[in-house]
Amino acid sequence: MKIGKDLKIVVLLITFLLAFSYFSNEKAIIMVNKNIIDDEVSSEVTITIVYDNYEYDKRLKTGFGFSCIVKIENKSILFDTGSDSETLLENMNELSLDLKNIEIIVLSHIHWDHVGGLKGFLGVNSDVDVYVPKSFPDDFKDEVKSFGADIIEVSDPMKIFNGAYSTGELGTFIKEQSLIIKTERGLIIITGCAHSGIVNIVKRTKELTKEEVYLVTGGFHLGGTSDYEIKNIVESFRKLGVKKVAPCHCTGDRAIGLFEEEYKDDFIKAGVGKIISI
Ligand SMILES: [Zn+2]
Ligand SMILES: [Zn+2]
Repeated sequence: MKIGKDLKIVVLLITFLLAFSYFSNEKAIIMVNKNIIDDEVSSEVTITIVYDNYEYDKRLKTGFGFSCIVKIENKSILFDTGSDSETLLENMNELSLDLKNIEIIVLSHIHWDHVGGLKGFLGVNSDVDVYVPKSFPDDFKDEVKSFGADIIEVSDPMKIFNGAYSTGELGTFIKEQSLIIKTERGLIIITGCAHSGIVNIVKRTKELTKEEVYLVTGGFHLGGTSDYEIKNIVESFRKLGVKKVAPCHCTGDRAIGLFEEEYKDDFIKAGVGKIISI
């Protein structure tokens, strides 16, 4: 009888210890996730749009798609690659941007107008880390690796470089990640096509960082959206405190026009060759 009682106490004690260690582990994981967005701030940020369907710098070629280079201090990140590498590389060359200086590539989503220029780029510079949504097909990841580049799979929000973060995979049907840059003036959000909804992306970023949004740029995916809906989106941007906008790529002419009407001097005309320095 006595042994049975002791055994019960031992079993209870072990269960308690196991439960305690389980919960403390859980807590540790949550704390790590919270710390993904740290206190790092990028002091000098330059965004150069090197591929877009809208013209800005007449010397450059337009093409359907999006790509920009984000220079943070001395590190250059290529965000998306447009539809074809010829246009991408020619535009970079015209702007005297050496593709050998790119160390990080972030791909927003699998659509051709965002990943089409990748292979041609890797053919010249494969000494890069390529951040892709985890849901990308294995054969795509294998092909990138076959060039000698490293693949980093993104599912949750993660840090990419000092002051640069991924929102993590968002959306259900088309998974997409956006880039968040922390600057002294606030956050910059760069989107590929914003398939998960541009307002959702801004909201998610604010939840993640608890900080104010200075600028949203990239494709907002509002072509064919009704005026009523676009006006609601513009209003949501204002309510969310977004200070400046630089929509391009798949935003649609009408949405670009309505953003310009509302944001006036805080509307930045974007297109291939546009350079935004913060
Ligand atoms: Zn897309
Ligand atoms: Zn697109």
